[in-house]
Amino acid sequence: MGVPALASGADGPGALRPLLETVLGALDDGARARGGPLPAGGPEAVAGRVRAAVGDVLPDKGDPDALRTLVRALAEGAADPADPLCAAHLHCPPLAVATAADLAASVLNPSLDSWDQAPAASELEALVTRALAAEIHRPAAGADAVVTTGGTESNQLALLLAREAHGGSVRLVCGANAHHSLPRAAWLLGLPDPVVVPAPAGTLDPAALDDALTDLTGPLLVAATAGTTDAGLVDPLPEIVRLCAAHGARLHVDAAYGGPLVFSDRHRALLTGIEAAHSVTLDLHKLGWQPVAAGLLAVRDGRDLAVLHQRADYLNADDDTEAGLPDLLGRSLRTSRRPDVLKTAVTLKTLGRRGLGALVDQVCAHAREFARRVENDPRFDLYDQPTISTVLFRPADADDDTVAAVRRTLLTGGRAVLGRARLDGRLWLKATLLNPHIRPEESAALLELAADAVEGHPRA
Ligand SMILES: *Cc1c(COP(=O)(O)O)cnc(C)c1O
Repeated sequence: MGVPALASGADGPGALRPLLETVLGALDDGARARGGPLPAGGPEAVAGRVRAAVGDVLPDKGDPDALRTLVRALAEGAADPADPLCAAHLHCPPLAVATAADLAASVLNPSLDSWDQAPAASELEALVTRALAAEIHRPAAGADAVVTTGGTESNQLALLLAREAHGGSVRLVCGANAHHSLPRAAWLLGLPDPVVVPAPAGTLDPAALDDALTDLTGPLLVAATAGTTDAGLVDPLPEIVRLCAAHGARLHVDAAYGGPLVFSDRHRALLTGIEAAHSVTLDLHKLGWQPVAAGLLAVRDGRDLAVLHQRADYLNADDDTEAGLPDLLGRSLRTSRRPDVLKTAVTLKTLGRRGLGALVDQVCAHAREFARRVENDPRFDLYDQPTISTVLFRPADADDDTVAAVRRTLLTGGRAVLGRARLDGRLWLKATLLNPHIRPEESAALLELAADAVEGHPRA
């Protein structure tokens, strides 16, 4: 083997084309070998097949067939979110057009830590972040956003901005329904222990929040959730906005899941109030059909981001900045950084607001349809009508151990991938419907598989 070919440059396309054929063929072979939403056999069997396929990970002499072998092995052992029976998590099937754009991002490999590594990508990122911030924060004058690796990084940044604005004594006040990354960010940033407000019905209880804000002294950051991870519920944002204003608290909204509801005329009203938040987390690798990673932190006042400023002579020397070279280092805490914004930009422009809104509406409609199916099936109990695209259900008269066992039976059999969530003190099966192509007979099959798995387990 000579010097390996490069992906970019004059010879790049010629080198890539046959490799892409190899990749597509291996993806196809692997998916056929799997034959379902998840590889059968559970962790040991899957790991064994991977070890057998991979062999020596660093052989002395290279293997020209490694691309085919490893892609096939990964595809065979994948949980495929495009399979209608794979509906556990906020793990979306990526759009083909977004994935193709992501390939271009890898080929061009712009790194968004300095203009001379990303001349066009940096401008595209500036355009897209401002446009998305404006979708969230209306009226939008001064709103801005930074690109992140996802909700976790966005929530961390939101707490960092609050700390920089209000000092190290700022206390996080969040619901018991908040994502774990919020208290974890408080821990990471050395902030006081968070105050966790009860969320007995799955959403933050405004009366309890009012009490907490009344009792607490010192600077406060309230974090509300628009689309809870467990149930897809939206906290009562207008009331929370009002309480934060009355108590002088800063407001962050974690809309990692629910954020893209803004694209839908039918569902946008669920987010009413979000525009008043100081910062908003948005994850387009959930309800936005992007390959990971596609996170965003939007801020109502772009000047809040100035605290991220950093100077490194090799990336943004003062004289370069004065001479007009854009200074990118303050757009992230990371240094080298992928142009994740390319796939997002391609998606926004290809589908338009209407196309994206239609996808959102479709998965919400599928969830309502699935909930109706559960409701009409005496073998199951429905938790509640879905707010977004998450449906919680459990076998009638089953105990929590049975619910957990049913989920694992489906997983290890490779037949269906359902999630789990604990609400109202009980364990529920969770279907997070993010596949806009799912057909009624497929959602019927999902419920039938769960019923079959229940048959195999004794009831309480
Ligand atoms: C998924 C999720 C997160 C974390 O996002 P990642 O992209 O996985 O880091 C944060 N908050 C909520 C509400 C989520 O659903």
